[in-house]
Amino acid sequence: MKNKPVYTLLLLLLFGSNGIAHSTDSLITILHNQIENKNYEGQIATHFELAKIYKATQEKNNELEQLEQALKTAKFHENHTDQIEALFQIGNYYGRIQDYSKVVETFKELFLEYQPLEQEQQIDVCDHISNAYRRLGNNELAYEYQLEALYHAEQIGDSSLIARSLYQIGNIFFFQYNYPVAIDYYQKTLEICKKIDFWRGIFNCHGAIGGAYDRLNEANKALKHNLTAYHLASERDYKLGLAYATHNLGMSYALLNQPDSALFYYEKSIKLKNEQNDTWGSIATLRGMGEVYLELENFPKSKEYLSRAYDLAKSNNSKPRLLETSMALSDFFSKTQNHEQANILLNEALALKDSLANETVLQKMSDAKTRFEIKEKEEALLLKDKEIKSIYTWILMGSLGFTLLLLWALFSRYISQKRHAKELELKNRQIEKQHQELREAYSAQSISSKQIFEQNKQLEVSNTELKRFAYIASHDLKEPLRTIGSYANLLKRRYQNQLDKNADEFIDFITSGVERMYHLLSDVLDYSNLDRFESSVEWIKTEEIVKDITQSLNHQIEEKKAIIQFTTLPEIKANETHLSQIFQNLISNAIKFTNGKTPIVQIGSRFAKGVPIFYVKDNGIGIEDSYQAKIFDIFQRLHTNEEFEGTGIGLSICKKIVESYGGEIWVESSPNKGSIFYFSLPVETKGVSRESFQSLPFVASN
Ligand code: ADP
Repeated sequence: MKNKPVYTLLLLLLFGSNGIAHSTDSLITILHNQIENKNYEGQIATHFELAKIYKATQEKNNELEQLEQALKTAKFHENHTDQIEALFQIGNYYGRIQDYSKVVETFKELFLEYQPLEQEQQIDVCDHISNAYRRLGNNELAYEYQLEALYHAEQIGDSSLIARSLYQIGNIFFFQYNYPVAIDYYQKTLEICKKIDFWRGIFNCHGAIGGAYDRLNEANKALKHNLTAYHLASERDYKLGLAYATHNLGMSYALLNQPDSALFYYEKSIKLKNEQNDTWGSIATLRGMGEVYLELENFPKSKEYLSRAYDLAKSNNSKPRLLETSMALSDFFSKTQNHEQANILLNEALALKDSLANETVLQKMSDAKTRFEIKEKEEALLLKDKEIKSIYTWILMGSLGFTLLLLWALFSRYISQKRHAKELELKNRQIEKQHQELREAYSAQSISSKQIFEQNKQLEVSNTELKRFAYIASHDLKEPLRTIGSYANLLKRRYQNQLDKNADEFIDFITSGVERMYHLLSDVLDYSNLDRFESSVEWIKTEEIVKDITQSLNHQIEEKKAIIQFTTLPEIKANETHLSQIFQNLISNAIKFTNGKTPIVQIGSRFAKGVPIFYVKDNGIGIEDSYQAKIFDIFQRLHTNEEFEGTGIGLSICKKIVESYGGEIWVESSPNKGSIFYFSLPVETKGVSRESFQSLPFVASN
């Protein structure tokens, strides 16, 4: 099969087109010789090719042998496709030789053993079986198989195959003499064929309709269709078609009582049919001719044709044809007065007719149709059901997908909300905690601030009261004290040495007591006055202050022969009275607290972190470490008034002033060696560069 073009080409090359017939034998020999050495594909192809050659040379037995060989080889090699192909070819072969029983047998093998076939193969198989059954006169099975073919053709929606099936169903009714129904089917087929522009179909339908009208003795209608068919076949030189069209025209003209025309076309038909070995067709034409001759009362010719038709029908094993010819022959015998023969043939015909279209057959055909209609309806329902199911499936899948999507969206939203809520909760907790801490801190702070505020308030009140008291006490007490002092002095001046010794001594006690009290009140007044007046600041030349103090302490300095030394001191921006009070107290103490030694007092300054620190250094009695902090408190004294006069207020005044500037005052001292009193004043300075200051050893030196 596959090698077909190769072989044909080989033939042409070797022998040329004229020599093909002669060369066929040689080719067959070559192919036969080669077949043994070939593989499976080669063998199958060779068998099919040989069958084709035998078909062309009309060596029927050899053709069949090759096809059967092909089938055998394909079966041996279990090649399904090639087996189907071989069976198709065998079936067609039997069709060609008009052995309808074998056609049925072969195609039934395909139908039963090779399922599932492809839809188109299934249609072909059913059509072949149906046609064979029709020829054999089994209309019931022919109808059933054709309905099956129609069903599959409709399934694949192939219009030409649908048309073919409808046409064949028409043929089944035709051969049951049910011409009106047959015409209906042919008309339906014709419409389809026209729609798809299938000319051969159109031709067949016209021919068939014409034939049916012939049978119905409607000669004019028949002639119209038959002529159309004839022209269609002529235009395309369609031999098989022309064979039938001419036959039908013969019939039409016979009906129209035009025996010459009828015989003319019948002759044409029989010639064409003989060319194609169409026994089946020839029977009908021979019968037709016999009938025309009978009409013309040419009995010998009539008998000749009718007998030939009858014999062929018998050998062809074709019931419908036999029925037609036996009827026609019976008619002949009837007309030629051979009633016995006529009767025999008539009975034979009636029996055949009954077998072709009796009640049972018709019922079975109707049943088959119902079955197929039910099957079709079931299929349609099934299809609809399938469609509905698939729609449902899609809807279900869609909704499922949508639901899943929705769930996913909801879930992820839920998760993110949960996470968000968790974060919020955490933040809230943190904020709450911070709030709590803040609340606690705030309440603690507010409590403590409140307490501090309250205490400060109380302190302020008591301070104010104390200051007022100190001021009032010191100021107002001064007045009566001055009176006491004046009168004590008066007593002393007037009555000294006039009274007894004790009295003089008592008066001295009073005057010295008053004097001390007076100093005390003055110092307390100074101390309390520090807060009472707002102090103004100005640039002060510190050296001038120190000089003034030295002047004012002149009496004391001379008495003790004290030496006062001072280095260059910086100008500072401060209150003059404040600076005088500090230097006054420190220098006077430095002169005062000595133990017989000549007091040497050194005054100087230095800078620490840009802040001026002044010092007053002496070589006096010194102060023990444990008392060094205490001496800056008010009324704190380390000695009796007999040892060293004083009120114990001086240093506390110094401390209060220094602290009011944000500075500090402290002492470094060593008993019997001396003391250095320092005080820092964080104020603006000028006039002296920092480099000019020499730092002093903090430990006092002599
Ligand atoms: P007062 O000098 O009136 O006693 P102060 O407040 O000035 O009061 O001094 C308090 C005490 O500090 C003094 O009583 C004295 O004991 C001690 N003191 C002060 N200056 C010196 C000094 N330069 N050397 C030794 N002791 C001193």
